[in-house]
Amino acid sequence: MNTDRGRQPLELSIDDYKRVLDQVSRLSVEWFEKLDERRIQPPVSGAEAQALLGGGLPDVGEGMAALDSLHEVLANARAQNGRFLGYVMGSGEMVAAVADLLASVINQNTSAWHSSPTAVTIERGVVSSLASAVGLDGFRGNLTGGGSASNLMGLAMAREAKLGANESGISAGSGAVVYASTEVHMAMPKAMALLGLGRRQLRLIAVDAAFRMRVDLLEKAIARDLAEGRCPIAVVGSAGTIVTGAIDPLEEIAAVARRFGLWFHVDGAYGGLAAIAVPDKLRGLRHVDSVALDAHKWLYQPVDCSCLLYHDADAARHAFSFTDDYAKALADDPIEAFAFFDESIELSRRFRALKLWLSWKFHGLDTFRAAIQRDLDHAQMLAEAIRDQDSLELLAPVELSAVCFRSIDPKGSADLNAFNAAVLKRINADGLVYLSNATIHGQFALRACFTNHRTTDDDIDEVVRAVTAAARAS
Ligand SMILES: *Cc1c(COP(=O)(O)O)cnc(C)c1O
Repeated sequence: MNTDRGRQPLELSIDDYKRVLDQVSRLSVEWFEKLDERRIQPPVSGAEAQALLGGGLPDVGEGMAALDSLHEVLANARAQNGRFLGYVMGSGEMVAAVADLLASVINQNTSAWHSSPTAVTIERGVVSSLASAVGLDGFRGNLTGGGSASNLMGLAMAREAKLGANESGISAGSGAVVYASTEVHMAMPKAMALLGLGRRQLRLIAVDAAFRMRVDLLEKAIARDLAEGRCPIAVVGSAGTIVTGAIDPLEEIAAVARRFGLWFHVDGAYGGLAAIAVPDKLRGLRHVDSVALDAHKWLYQPVDCSCLLYHDADAARHAFSFTDDYAKALADDPIEAFAFFDESIELSRRFRALKLWLSWKFHGLDTFRAAIQRDLDHAQMLAEAIRDQDSLELLAPVELSAVCFRSIDPKGSADLNAFNAAVLKRINADGLVYLSNATIHGQFALRACFTNHRTTDDDIDEVVRAVTAAARAS
């Protein structure tokens, strides 16, 4: 025991720290060891979880006994093995997880070079490598807590570049409008609301049969808004829509944005990183002013790790720097004067880059590229298997790694929506496979999304087996 405890009430002795670390280390090893055999969705009710884990916290510390509670945490956590295919969720790479622990141990504040030379240097390097990996050499940016934050920041940059609202706010009659497709992620209307632009000023442009924005309708909408005296400021393309993974025609949208002088932001939170494996699918990315990429999705990083990239760092400073000369006063050297807080909504910032840096150095970009390609292949394998089964129906083209399909009731039930909802519930309750759902043209769809480096070819067979078995039982 630390004899100095009275004066440093929260600090452990090195021996106690080792004991805590050993126990956590054992738990983490056991987690990965048993990952494949765990039920994916823990069989716990809301009331049970509340009783187990949601109670009040003690006035008097439990010491090492507190760690025993971690068993309940792990036992009731969702297990993201190779058959977890819900939403768009990165599978959590091991080296990155360990690096995240170390990032907290050294507890650097990645706010400015002066505050943490190592962390800031590493993050700038990671961002620059990420940009190059998706074909955006020379772009700048920073890591954020998620695609929602990255998209919000991208739109904040657009607002400042085109309206200049930071100082006096948005004038009531600004008439500012933004364009995106009907398939846009909810992060975008949320950003419109938070930035005072208003959700109604987000024009939702209809999509074609493959769920891509209709550029002819985009042009018409812009022309109409201009004719009616409004002020178009930005167009948001989706690179991997959240439901089907469709990629908007980015080249054409970029041309329209350029012609009308609009900011071009791309929400690539889901699919932008696919450019590492299939650059041709995402060629239009090179025209963006800003793009959101989620490394905690398709680079398999533990949450959180998103990235906003932008072409013009001055635009980021205009949007986010309040005291332009603040950091510059501290150092003449441009590297040492750099401050992320001048280009971000965050001031104190986690050392998010360490996990991506270490996991990238450990595995190499080629391995990530191969993993992304495998996800793309697995999606095509599942789509193929669905086409081969009379009892299954594909509901959307598979452009990236999201597969939307449904089960045709073998008993001929009329309400396929209710039937598939029941099928999904059964699959996820069984715990071997986890899918999520989506609505496609009013139809309830089962949705499998591959951003999972643990998925094997055999897991694809398990998905088909789980769906057909659940359909028979429903
Ligand atoms: C996941 C996602 C978001 C939101 O990102 P978070 O990291 O969950 O905040 C936005 N857009 C798309 C297309 C996404 O897939």
